[in-house]
Amino acid sequence: MNNSFPLRIIETRGTHYEVGHQIGVAARDSLCAMHAETRADYGERWNSLLRASAPFLAATQKHLPNVVEELRGSADGAGIPFDDLFLMSVEELLYEEVRGGTSPRPSPSKGEGERERSKGEGDRERSKGEGERERSKGCSDLAAAVPATRDGHVWLAHNNDLGASSMPHLFVTRFCVNGEPEILAVTVGGLFISIGMNNAGICLTGNQLNANDSRVGVPRLLIVRDILAQTNLENALASALLPERASSYNNIISSRDERIVNAEGSATAVALSWSFEHGGALAHTNHYLDENMLPFEADAQNIAMSASRCARAFDYARKYRGQIDFDVCARFVRDHVYAPWSVCKHAGQSVTVFSALIDLTEQKMWLTRGNPCQSDFALYTF
Ligand SMILES: [Zn+2]
Repeated sequence: MNNSFPLRIIETRGTHYEVGHQIGVAARDSLCAMHAETRADYGERWNSLLRASAPFLAATQKHLPNVVEELRGSADGAGIPFDDLFLMSVEELLYEEVRGGTSPRPSPSKGEGERERSKGEGDRERSKGEGERERSKGCSDLAAAVPATRDGHVWLAHNNDLGASSMPHLFVTRFCVNGEPEILAVTVGGLFISIGMNNAGICLTGNQLNANDSRVGVPRLLIVRDILAQTNLENALASALLPERASSYNNIISSRDERIVNAEGSATAVALSWSFEHGGALAHTNHYLDENMLPFEADAQNIAMSASRCARAFDYARKYRGQIDFDVCARFVRDHVYAPWSVCKHAGQSVTVFSALIDLTEQKMWLTRGNPCQSDFALYTF
């Protein structure tokens, strides 16, 4: 580990369990702090959430058993009960969506305007911490391949916005699982992947979305781990679109072979955009863009803040078509137009906690901790 890096590096090697265990040991302080904080946020409701998470675990055990093994290792390494650590990965229960309902909500396209509330309005009585958590995630992405890039490389620019309290828990984790591609990922608590790339040439960036059709299934946060275990774009996209998913991020999957696909998903639907359909460049933030996905938007009253960042991302995609490179990407992530709702975000419940520039063609990832306008990028490689 080199202490000059802005984000601490965790090195791992072995089976899924061993890799998880090494992460649990290395990030024990962060994982224990996150565990204590999350439990405190939910108080007496924690036990009912644990019960609600059981079918999510069953689905994950069935479809992604390797990921469950890794979690078991991490729980043991950090000294956290496994069920608690698993629940910490179920954003669909912790943040906003399923809330104890065990079946998918009716499709909004069928005219069902009223959200199913199996436990009534009591579900809406959340602690302060929980409410903040729900609104405290955001990201801005620009993704470019030929012919949008100056050098013909595949370039990704990503700002990750979270509550500032998450910053001490950010790591770069090198997952070296036997027989799988090596992954270099920015993680929260060493374990939960935010973005990353693998040495087979697959990269995952993207954005949180708020959908109204989330359901019991495999948590989206754990599907991310499986996407990065894949060796080609087709398999990575298939992983993102696992039919048994509980919900979905907007997953931007890039391949060193000059293809990028934006999978704007929910639990039950997806809209795909390909870089070759858009002059090589794609942009996205935290709201649905595709016409067919708009009925799944659960946070329509708050999309303006995401839309301002998205407008800038599209400005860059258009204005710099054919010129996108490190410098353009760095300018994008440091952009302050439309502040305080700017790409480089300094105010509000979420701020930019890390920034990433990736040259996937050369397998290089540059990172800053905190706002990218206030520090230089440090290079991470395999
Ligand atoms: Zn800034």
